Amino acid sequence: MKCSVAFSLFALASAEIAVATILTGTSVTTSLSSFNLTKGAACACGRLSRTYDGIISPNSANYTVQAADAYWDVRADLSPACIFLPSTADEVSKALEIFQSCDAHFAVRGGGHMNYPGSNNIDGGVLLALEKFKDIKVKKGSVEVGPGLVWYDIYKALEPYGRAAIGGRLKTIGVPGLSLIGGFHYFNNKYGYAMDNVVGYDIVLGNGTQITVNKKSHPDLFWALKGGANNYGIVTKFTLKTYDIPKVSTTIQVFNESGIPDFLAAVCNAAKLDEKDPIAAGMVATVQYNATTKVATASLLGVQEGISQPPSQFANFSAIPSITQINNVTTMRQWASSLDTPKQMFRVMFSHKTMKPDHDALVSIYKAWKEAVDQIADVEGLYPTFVTNVASAGAARVALTNGVGNVWGLEAEPYILWQFSTGWALAQDDLRIEAWSRQLAERLHAINVEKGIASPFIYMGDAGEWQDPFAGFPAENVARMRTIKSSYDPLGVFSRLNWGGFKLSL
Ligand SMILES: Cc1cc2nc3c(=O)[nH]c(=O)nc-3n(C[C@H](O)[C@H](O)[C@H](O)COP(=O)(O)OP(=O)(O)OC[C@H]3O[C@@H](n4cnc5c(N)ncnc54)[C@H](O)[C@@H]3O)c2cc1C
Repeated sequence: MKCSVAFSLFALASAEIAVATILTGTSVTTSLSSFNLTKGAACACGRLSRTYDGIISPNSANYTVQAADAYWDVRADLSPACIFLPSTADEVSKALEIFQSCDAHFAVRGGGHMNYPGSNNIDGGVLLALEKFKDIKVKKGSVEVGPGLVWYDIYKALEPYGRAAIGGRLKTIGVPGLSLIGGFHYFNNKYGYAMDNVVGYDIVLGNGTQITVNKKSHPDLFWALKGGANNYGIVTKFTLKTYDIPKVSTTIQVFNESGIPDFLAAVCNAAKLDEKDPIAAGMVATVQYNATTKVATASLLGVQEGISQPPSQFANFSAIPSITQINNVTTMRQWASSLDTPKQMFRVMFSHKTMKPDHDALVSIYKAWKEAVDQIADVEGLYPTFVTNVASAGAARVALTNGVGNVWGLEAEPYILWQFSTGWALAQDDLRIEAWSRQLAERLHAINVEKGIASPFIYMGDAGEWQDPFAGFPAENVARMRTIKSSYDPLGVFSRLNWGGFKLSL
């Protein structure tokens, strides 16, 4: 797609005041949409372009690549007034000083996988894309990684050392977003969530100050960054723990519709598994339904540390008659290499809720979802998936015993996070799909509440934009997060100017 630009932003940017005055209210049309250029954006884009080379404007050749192609969800494609790709923490710091002094609205993008508009992109504001932060330093027991990396990069760098980190399960999920919101990996049951494995953050605060945060230095912020998302600053380096896991045992299994109730029973059993000396093991467990052919299938991607073959922790799945079962012993890098999540495939709506592992209730949810999908079978490009994630007691126990904790405050109990991930093709169906997905999730959750098996916990990585994850954290944790925010972001840069994503309310 070629940009059609009604107005060239930088042609007139001879001086900051002039830019602000001349461009206020100017309508800019990009390949993606139109926006009115605000005084703040004109000021910030003008100052950035006078300070740094390579600021991308709506008429730059690579504008669409940055404003659209870098996003997973087509709905996240927006029209920033300009795009800055910093390559050092000093440049991020300078940018934040500029945003603050210009009162400019901005968005931050890591791997671009958060799936809703505004969480990582912005219409008419400044987009800060972190893709140049690609440094990786493997150390003894840890690895330092930049926020421009995806998880495959980390697994690849660690492979020669026989080490593994706790990150994303698929290849191209971004390191920063996942680490800041929690992080479901295969090995949570033994090592905790990705956030529990971050031992240090280099972060730039809203006023441009750069600090290093760890258990000893700024321990309050260290805790708040474990699940606190994009509420505190921009992380320019994560230091992650690594583990001695040279090989993994994997299984890919596909089941036809008659096996789905047993498949969901195996998911419940996997959630409840809580051994004294656990073997690290976990999965991606999904049900796909084709509303045209009326055929449902379930699939399991299971990974376990070590070389036990077939992987012992998936015996409950392996006992179900399957269409496909492929077991293998490989490395984390090799496994992740084939699990790409291509960007720009569709528009996507997530809705998710949490429950105790209850087989009958989970099967009822699956059946209700399938019936509900039939009601929207006419939607163009419909791609409905029912996803389950398990939050085991062992995973919560890591934060309960490591002397740090995290903002989730989950007790050592098993839970199942159930999610509708719905893809479709046309913008005209956006509101319909949101209403459908939201109403269905809320109705089924209400039944679980009535049965006493619902949890208020909401994971940001599985949630729709209509959901409030903070409402599911313990109230005292949210109060503490607010106190910490008021001391590290007193001017509210990460709520007032960077307002997209899951934000602690003011
Ligand atoms: C196909 C797919 C598969 C997924 N698989 C998993 C999985 O296996 N496990 C799991 O836990 N989750 C998973 N998720 C959810 C995923 O973790 C979140 O979407 C996460 O936010 C992605 O991180 P990102 O860097 O790619 O996202 P981005 O969209 O770039 O960022 C997410 C949020 O973090 C902010 N942010 C980004 N970088 C920084 C930074 N350096 N400092 C401060 N804020 C920043 C952004 O502004 C945005 O609000 C998956 C999502 C998708 C779409």
